[in-house]
Amino acid sequence: VIIGVPKEICPGEQRVALTPANVSALLKKQGVEIIIERGAGDIAGYPDSAYEAAGSKLVDRDEVFSSAQVVLQVQTPGSNIKNGDEDLTKLKEGQILIGMTDPLANPQFAQSLAEKKVSGLALELVPRITRAQAMDVLSSMAMIAGYKCVLLAATESARMFPMNMTAAGTMKPARVLIMGVGVAGLQACATAKRLGAVVEAYDVRPAAREQILSVGAKPVELDLDTGEAEGTGGYAKAQGEDFLKRQRELMTEVVKEMDVIITTAAIPGAKSPILVTEDMVKAMKPGSIIVDMAAERGGNCDLTESGKTVVKHGVTIIGPENVPSTVAFHASQMFGKNMENLLNLLIDDEGKLQLDFEDEIVAETVISHEGDVPQPRLRDLLG
Ligand code: NAD
Repeated sequence: VIIGVPKEICPGEQRVALTPANVSALLKKQGVEIIIERGAGDIAGYPDSAYEAAGSKLVDRDEVFSSAQVVLQVQTPGSNIKNGDEDLTKLKEGQILIGMTDPLANPQFAQSLAEKKVSGLALELVPRITRAQAMDVLSSMAMIAGYKCVLLAATESARMFPMNMTAAGTMKPARVLIMGVGVAGLQACATAKRLGAVVEAYDVRPAAREQILSVGAKPVELDLDTGEAEGTGGYAKAQGEDFLKRQRELMTEVVKEMDVIITTAAIPGAKSPILVTEDMVKAMKPGSIIVDMAAERGGNCDLTESGKTVVKHGVTIIGPENVPSTVAFHASQMFGKNMENLLNLLIDDEGKLQLDFEDEIVAETVISHEGDVPQPRLRDLLG
């Protein structure tokens, strides 16, 4: 099997799909060869020399697409809507493409791959089961994003996060509120705590309470019935508009006290819920900061502009895009390890590659195969 890694071309993307450590590990299998586009890991801190030392061959982009049986990308043309079409034309019948495809927002991509008889694996669809945890890029990238968003807030804030008692007076610690405490939110809680802030957090899933406490943050208690908030795979279910309205009313009192708010609330495949309205922003203290991690999915704040930092009613609202890419070394390390684990499932020690649809991970993740779209959720979306 020849595995190929092209350099990422999505504007702003700094990660690489496989690191030299993953190359060494995968080359232990018989019959596996790995080709890497020259310069693919440069920005992330993995130079060509390290890939060569690990045993891969450096080639140009066209050779990756013409020789590799399996092509690995962080952003496939499915998620790279800006200039991904260039790659789509390079893919060939019988090839396997693995990467992020934004499957629920862009199900048509599965159809495009099917038409080319390319087998596509969408990393976003890796099921949330214990065995697949080591392949789950959404979790590993969310962890990195949660960390970085706190740093973005700290950099933008006119306050220090920790309490300080000095000869020039005492500075109170910053008060930070995290809304949505999944993987990203929990890491945001932990990071803000480490910086010395007083951290409070809120999530609709009752199970999040214990996790909030476990990182030393304080759960915000709202008088809301959240008994049914947890859906399958640990994801939150979409809440009705009545619930969200009541949540915002109760939250208005809480946000008034905060210096920094980080929102991370997401519902898979749906627009993000609005947690912070313009009226709530007006109620906040001037100089406060909001980092909206859901910016790319419509945002958790009414006033967020994706990819921009705006000041509204004296509050700075940051809507960052592709945050994991800004921590490219460690993001690539985790992404690459997730890829390596997935490839270990698909390729046996003798180097034989097989897509075994009896395996839940394969059945959920493969979005196109032999001209079809076998994934039931995507078939529904395509109608
Ligand atoms: P996510 O990115 O889908 O959403 C972020 C958070 O927003 C979630 O915790 C969600 O409950 C919350 N949210 C949604 N609507 C909200 C609202 N109206 N108000 C407040 N919060 C709201 O979540 P995630 O990071 O993918 O994690 C969700 C859960 O799944 C966590 O418990 C996580 O530990 C678990 N998980 C399990 C596995 C696994 O078993 N393999 C892998 C990853 C995550």
